[in-house]
Amino acid sequence: MAPTLGMAFARIEWFSPNRDPAAHERLGALFHHSGMGFDETIARMLDPASRVSYHCLIGLDGTRCTLVPDEQVAWHAGSSRFLGRERCNDFLLGIAFAGDTHLAPLTEEQVCSALEWLGERWEPLGWDAARVVDHRQVSPGRKRDLDPAQWDRLYSEILSRFGSGRGASVSGLKSRPTGDRNAWPPPR
Ligand SMILES: [Zn+2]
Repeated sequence: MAPTLGMAFARIEWFSPNRDPAAHERLGALFHHSGMGFDETIARMLDPASRVSYHCLIGLDGTRCTLVPDEQVAWHAGSSRFLGRERCNDFLLGIAFAGDTHLAPLTEEQVCSALEWLGERWEPLGWDAARVVDHRQVSPGRKRDLDPAQWDRLYSEILSRFGSGRGASVSGLKSRPTGDRNAWPPPR
């Protein structure tokens, strides 16, 4: 079954203490799996001792939990490099799927919910398909999320939804004009 576009998934908020108030550059998105269930992941993010957080967690039914506001820095990537730039936490939003993609594929709801999450940011933040990546690729040899087949599946859905885009460059990731920070969240 192809993911159904236009679905609106439930949203909840549990704000994690594990974050920096520093302005996030929001140059793209870094995908993870959490390796545990939805509730268990939220509990870990709410524990200051864990010192980890994602901006958003997607449950098996597509429910999205916001854990860190997009405008702040979440602690999801650790040592990492993308397009030649270190410290992905500074410039890539962290979004995680509950579960372990090596043990079970993403649910259709998770894929659809991720596309919905991306769709709310893609145009306002000027993203293209070269600005989304997974943890495995930015921390090679250290991290295994996502399973490569599941990443390929997700990325093909991203390409079919948003197109291949312009292609990011290192210079393109160095900075972004901050004048449109007020564009997010969009007015309702
Ligand atoms: Zn990860």
